[in-house]
Amino acid sequence: MQASDVQVELSVSVGVAMYPQDGTAMASLLHRAELALHQAKAEGTGRIGFFSLALSRVAEERIALEKALREALQGGGLQLHYQPQVELASGRLHGLEALACWEHPTLGFIPPTRFIPLAEECGLMGGLSRWALDQACRQLALWRREGLTVPVVAVNLSASNFQSPELPAIVAQTLERHGLQASDLIVELTESTLLDSQGSTLQTIERLHAQGVRLSLDDFGTGYSSLSYLRRLPIAELKLDRSFVADLEHAPTARALSAAILGIGTSLGLTVVAEGVETAGQKEILQDQGYQVVQGYWFARPMAPQELAGWMGSWCSSASRSSRT
Ligand code: C2E
Ligand code: CA
Ligand code: CA
Repeated sequence: MQASDVQVELSVSVGVAMYPQDGTAMASLLHRAELALHQAKAEGTGRIGFFSLALSRVAEERIALEKALREALQGGGLQLHYQPQVELASGRLHGLEALACWEHPTLGFIPPTRFIPLAEECGLMGGLSRWALDQACRQLALWRREGLTVPVVAVNLSASNFQSPELPAIVAQTLERHGLQASDLIVELTESTLLDSQGSTLQTIERLHAQGVRLSLDDFGTGYSSLSYLRRLPIAELKLDRSFVADLEHAPTARALSAAILGIGTSLGLTVVAEGVETAGQKEILQDQGYQVVQGYWFARPMAPQELAGWMGSWCSSASRSSRT
């Protein structure tokens, strides 16, 4: 179709619910046809979807989960756990990554890989990230008041957060509310955020950087045009994706790539963090390659805030340090 001087491609998706097997009342038939349409659109354009009971179950579960997530965001069901990042040479704490977790009273443990995409789909990501930024900053300030030396906290943000021009102001207000400096916070973003890059995303990144907040490129090596982004964007840190670390001991190509990524990062003056370190063997290979900052179950699992003091106490004792780093 031609609209003004623009060629527009139209496509049609159809959702089908049949009378009487899928329902006898108009309202429920329409509702079920809508579910089938939603499914058809999720599978691509120009498709026909038919209602089924399985479809109805999936949709009902999703609706229940969405409702639970809204309640958790308002009522405090979500928590942040913190995973230490360690400097290999000194054994010192480099920083903490804040990771959201959700233990629902009846639905049980729901992993972030499930509720983060759901939050994204239901338009809850803005609220979730505001909550995560506030919690992480509040906790960092509290630890410091208690005398714990935590250099920096890293918060994960999603692509949609960067499309919001309000993000830099939200970050600045949150830091101010908790008496923190911009250098106390690292914001982690993935390459998918950058692939998505509209002008607004790039502007938000630039403004955060101008405020003094460091940006860390998460899951590095799994996306596409990493190198051109590194050249254009004010990134301070790369996080080697844990899939490389998992293969280090067995795959020469993973070793070659982790060395290459460290080389790229250090030559650009970036901190390179290797994440997902689970074994002494992986740690040794990374150390030999020159990695300075590591994160993974070998050092510590993500922990509730009240566990940090105990972990730091045992970590700092020389016995534990010499056996782990
Ligand atoms: P991520 O940002 O790459 O976070 C690291 C994930 O690896 C975490 O999973 C962490 O528990 C896990 N991990 C850490 N060390 C190891 C290890 O040695 N071995 C293995 N196998 N895994 C390790 P988690 O907590 O399930 O989070 C999954 C993803 O969910 C995160 O991946 C991040 O993309 C997203 N996410 C978590 N919290 C938030 C949040 O507050 N906001 C946003 N936008 N995304 C979040
Ligand atoms: Ca992360
Ligand atoms: Ca990661």
